[in-house]
Amino acid sequence: MQIPFDPIQRSEETERKVMRGEDRLYHKFRAAPYYGGIATADAIGCSFLCAFCWNYRRNENPGSFGRLYSPEDVAENLIKIGRRRSFSLFRITGSEPVLGESSFNHLFKVIEIIINAEPHSKFILETNGLMLGYKEGLAQRLNFPQLLVRIALKGVDPGSFEKISGAKKEFFHYPLQALKILEKLGVKAWPALLEDLFSNPQIEKLKHSLQGFGIESELELEYLERYPIVLENLKRRRLLLPNNH
Ligand code: SF4
Repeated sequence: MQIPFDPIQRSEETERKVMRGEDRLYHKFRAAPYYGGIATADAIGCSFLCAFCWNYRRNENPGSFGRLYSPEDVAENLIKIGRRRSFSLFRITGSEPVLGESSFNHLFKVIEIIINAEPHSKFILETNGLMLGYKEGLAQRLNFPQLLVRIALKGVDPGSFEKISGAKKEFFHYPLQALKILEKLGVKAWPALLEDLFSNPQIEKLKHSLQGFGIESELELEYLERYPIVLENLKRRRLLLPNNH
């Protein structure tokens, strides 16, 4: 894959590889300790190819891993895990859930089934925000009161976004656009950033840019999972970890 790439084109190509009708490729279902305990489905396929992605190999070759699951199967697997472990949180991770219309429809059905079966639960949509910002109509449909949307920003400005995500810098603003749309709709959504890759002044600059863009929710700072493949890819993309962390 030539870097930088057009992430919309990559998203559409990836969607064709990971979706068959309503079914999507997944490689695992598990109970995860994050957020205090959450039933988790690991899907395959992303519009970006981030240097720090722990699922890098699967997202690099999305058609070569996992097996197809219908939205009903995904929801059922997650509900079973949630009931067994007394979790009231659900998510899909390791990938981008929204690659285009058909993956969005798959996700929508999964959320709908879970929320109907478990009305007191919450679904956390972990997304890079690209398609939700690019295709505004998709974000407008996310009006579930039990939905929380966490948008992982890949850089503090267009340059760092391109270096980290592999996507061309002109697409930097779409995740911000998604946040703005969701906030306007009254959906609980917030931005997140990997703290380890940036200096404190860079993080402050991003906070100002978010405010300037009209985004009110607070920036969540997360930590880098230092798997060998992550460190190797960061080195390959010439991304250094600043000394102040
Ligand atoms: S957006 Fe997330 S899933 Fe996609 S490549 Fe980046 S870290 Fe991996």
